[in-house]
Amino acid sequence: MSEIFSTVAVFQYSAEAQIIKGRLQAEGIETFLADNHTIDTDPLVSNAIGGVKLKVHKRNQEQALQVLGSINKYSVDDDGEQISCPKCHGKKVELFSNMKGLQFFFFLSLSFLIYVLPMRIKRDYYCATCNHKFKFK
Ligand SMILES: [Zn+2]
Repeated sequence: MSEIFSTVAVFQYSAEAQIIKGRLQAEGIETFLADNHTIDTDPLVSNAIGGVKLKVHKRNQEQALQVLGSINKYSVDDDGEQISCPKCHGKKVELFSNMKGLQFFFFLSLSFLIYVLPMRIKRDYYCATCNHKFKFK
């Protein structure tokens, strides 16, 4: 049996998958997620079952991949301007969190328990051009 749908992207958690799903739907591409409910129930199984899959109909695959390719993966500030590196002024700046794995999951769970959004996660930016790490604002 040939596959009718194809996976165009895979995400660790469903929150990021939902954002990209919305982007594709705004382009008129019908999408759906697979395994998102399982991972929402137990985020620790994400790696074991291969993450949240974003699927589209085969006939939309090429268009979906084009849209995904056009999404800017580098960080922007509150005004939508690209953040530039203070050292080399490069524009290839990515956000990363210092918290990893279980520490992050524990922090996120704790935040939900006390109804505080996880705004205090320590975030740094990383310049892909010169490898400089810095804070923004
Ligand atoms: Zn730089």
